[in-house]
Amino acid sequence: MNTDRVRARRLAMQLRDLRTVACALPDALVLLDRDDRIRWCNPAAGSLLGVAWPRDRGVLVATRFGEGELGAWLRAGASDVDDIASPVAVGVRLQLSRIPYGDYRRLLIARDISRVTHLEQVRRDFVANVSHELRTPLTVIHGYLELLDPEDVPALAPVLNEMRAQSQRMRQIVEDLLELSRLEMQQHVAEERVEMARILESLVREAEALSQGRHRVVLRDELRADLLGSPKDLHSAFSNLVSNAVRYTPEGGSITIRWRGTPSGAEYSVADTGYGIPAEHLSRLTERFYRVSSSRSRATGGTGLGLSIVKHVLNLHDAQLRVESEAGKGSMFTCVFGKARLLQPDA
Ligand code: ADP
Repeated sequence: MNTDRVRARRLAMQLRDLRTVACALPDALVLLDRDDRIRWCNPAAGSLLGVAWPRDRGVLVATRFGEGELGAWLRAGASDVDDIASPVAVGVRLQLSRIPYGDYRRLLIARDISRVTHLEQVRRDFVANVSHELRTPLTVIHGYLELLDPEDVPALAPVLNEMRAQSQRMRQIVEDLLELSRLEMQQHVAEERVEMARILESLVREAEALSQGRHRVVLRDELRADLLGSPKDLHSAFSNLVSNAVRYTPEGGSITIRWRGTPSGAEYSVADTGYGIPAEHLSRLTERFYRVSSSRSRATGGTGLGLSIVKHVLNLHDAQLRVESEAGKGSMFTCVFGKARLLQPDA
């Protein structure tokens, strides 16, 4: 009897400790029952979500947030969301997770990520501003270099040509950085018809022009469907993949551009028989300025930003980039689109 009482007291103490810890957490915790009704919440749930205990006990959590962004997310039933506005704290951005526990219960966790979001914004603005500020002086330098004729000063001809090539490289880097900034700031993409047959034809012409007869270019257009999105951005992404295939495939290799239907939607892919990429690099390829071989990238006119641009364009179109490659054998870059992005071609 005595030991029972000691055990009960110890359990009560542990429970009190757990609750004190939960109350001290800066993250909002909301315990939900199997019907998504609020069972308990900590004080941070009040300041971040406007939910209070015991006032809101038994209330359906989605109805608590009405028609707002948060209510819509809860009703959609997703498990995680990044960067959603707090319904009560002005200017506060939240990261939310819904974690199952026990028998069909759920724990809703909200974390204040305003500082991180702000730093992200500062970084984005900084890159965009620096690129913008560099654009004009570079255009002026490049313009003057174009005016100088190497034939007037033959001794300086090699220097002048190198200066021209380098200033053109800098201009391309700045243009790519500006393009990335624009894509990063964009929330939504144009919803226009992207005529695939026409784009594929122009991609083949681009590949042939870049290759100048050094590669075999094959087109496999196997799907009579168009895409819904931004024709300019998708063309730029597709063209980046084609240009990489040409640049990273030695003479005599082949490049296959393919558009095909799949059970879940459609895929655009570019396969080459080039240098390939060792497995350890694959996960980092879409990071800015990440290169497997810097010298090879520079020698072929790369800025190191192409695949970042591709990833951003695809994100805006709810699509994913899949990379398969084997060193020494070749690579295949595939853009995977869902059914919602497909349009039947115009009659
Ligand atoms: P870059 O301008 O350097 O080509 P990208 O962002 O387009 O920059 O590509 C990043 C890196 O990925 C390249 O530097 C190259 O090492 C590798 N890469 C991209 N495409 C291919 C390919 N088709 N074959 C082999 N390596 C590739």
